[in-house]
Amino acid sequence: MRFLHPFSILIVVAAPLIVVGGDNVTGITQPNRDGQPGPPGLMVVSDFEGASVADVSIDQVARSISFMPGGNPERGWPCWWSFRIDGMNPGETVTLKLRGSTATVGKQKPLAASWATPKQATWSTDGKAWLHTGDGHRQDEWMVYMLQPDTTSIFVAWGPPYTPTTAAKFMQAIGEASPHAEARELCRSREGRSVPMLHVSEGDRATQHRFGVWVQARQHAWESGSSWVAQGFAEWLVGNDPDAVWLRRHAEISVVPVMDVDNAATGNGGKNALPHDHNRDWSSNPHWNEVQAAQRMVSELIDAGRMDVFLDLHNPAPGDPSFFYILPQEMLKEPMISLRNRFIDLAYGRISKIKPLIPMSNKPKVTGAGYHPLWRQISSNWVCMNGNPHTVSLCLETIWNYKNSTTDGYRAVGANLAAAVREYLAERPVRE
Ligand SMILES: [Zn+2]
Repeated sequence: MRFLHPFSILIVVAAPLIVVGGDNVTGITQPNRDGQPGPPGLMVVSDFEGASVADVSIDQVARSISFMPGGNPERGWPCWWSFRIDGMNPGETVTLKLRGSTATVGKQKPLAASWATPKQATWSTDGKAWLHTGDGHRQDEWMVYMLQPDTTSIFVAWGPPYTPTTAAKFMQAIGEASPHAEARELCRSREGRSVPMLHVSEGDRATQHRFGVWVQARQHAWESGSSWVAQGFAEWLVGNDPDAVWLRRHAEISVVPVMDVDNAATGNGGKNALPHDHNRDWSSNPHWNEVQAAQRMVSELIDAGRMDVFLDLHNPAPGDPSFFYILPQEMLKEPMISLRNRFIDLAYGRISKIKPLIPMSNKPKVTGAGYHPLWRQISSNWVCMNGNPHTVSLCLETIWNYKNSTTDGYRAVGANLAAAVREYLAERPVRE
C-alpha cells in the first residue's frame, strides 16, 4: 500500500496567529496596512525529499513557528522532522517551538517527545552544510530553539538529513573519483526507489582470497546520523591512508548508506513500522526488498566462508552515548566471542579518542531474547547466528543528542570504524 507523501506548502500569514493542519494548504500572501498584497511572511515548506512536519502554526508578529514531527506512525516512530522556512528577514530572530508528535497507531501511547527533541536542532542555508542551533530550552510541552540567520530562507531538521538522493550523489561522485570504488544498486525498494550501494576493492587479488566486509545504515529511517557514519567509513576507505589501501587490497567492502529508502524519502520514522521494521525483518522470508537483497549478498559471503565483518549502523536513545549491541555470550561459540571482543576493543580505542569528543561506552548492550520478541530477526543477530565461526557481526549505535553529533563528528566515527576494521583484519590470517 502506498501512502500519500506528507508534502505540503504552508503559507500562513494573514493573522498574527493561524493554526493550520492537513497536507495541502494553499498559500496566501500577507496584506499590508492598505489591504494590498505585501511581501510574504514566514512560510513553512515541506515539498521535498525527506521533509516532515505537522500541526504547523505561525505567529507572524512574534516570528515564531510551532510544529510537531510529521510522518505516518504506521510507517514508524514519528520523531523525524525536517522542513524549510522561507520569508525570513535577514538577521531577525525566529523561534521554533517543537513538541512531540501526538500521532499514534491504534491505542498505543504517543511516542515520548524526547526522541524528537534534540538539545540542539540542526539548520542549514543551502541544504548541504549543516549547523547546530544553540541549546533549546523547555517551556511546558515545548522545546524552543532560537535562530538568527543572515538570510531569507533556511532548512531546519532533527539532525543532519541524509536522503536517498544524498546517498546516490555521494556514491556516484566517489565511484567516479576512485578507480577502486563502484556505485551499484542494491535493489529497488517496494515503492520502486533505487537503493544505492558502494562496492570497493583494489588490485588483482582473487575474490575468494579477500575478507568480506559489509556495512549498512538506516534500517531505521529517522536515524540520519548513521548514514553520515557510513559516508565517513566510505570516504576513509577510498582515501590515501596506507591502511585504507591495505584494506582495499585485502578485502571487498560493501557500503549501503540508506537501507530504508522509502521512509527516508517520505520523511517517515521507519522504526517499528508495520508489519515490522527493517531491523526486525532478517527472517527466512524478509518483507522488505532491501533486507532480501542484503541478506542474499551476505549469505553469499557466508557460503564462501568470507563473512568477516558485518556492521549495522544506528543512532540510540536520546540519553545514550555511542556503544555496540551484541548477542549474549552464552549464545555464541569461540572463536566468535574472542574475535568480536577484540574488534570492539579496537573500535572503542579509536572512536573514544576522536577530537572533538564523541562519547562512547566500552560496555556493549545485549540484544538477546529479553530485548525484543523478534530479536532473532535483528540483522546483526541474524548474521551472528547464521554466519561463519569467525564472523564479527555488530550493531553500532552512534550518539546523536550531543554537541559533536554533527556531520563532521559522525564522519569521524565512520573513518575510525573503518580504520578499526583494517586493524582487526590485519591480525587475521591472510586468506591465501
Ligand atoms: Zn535503530
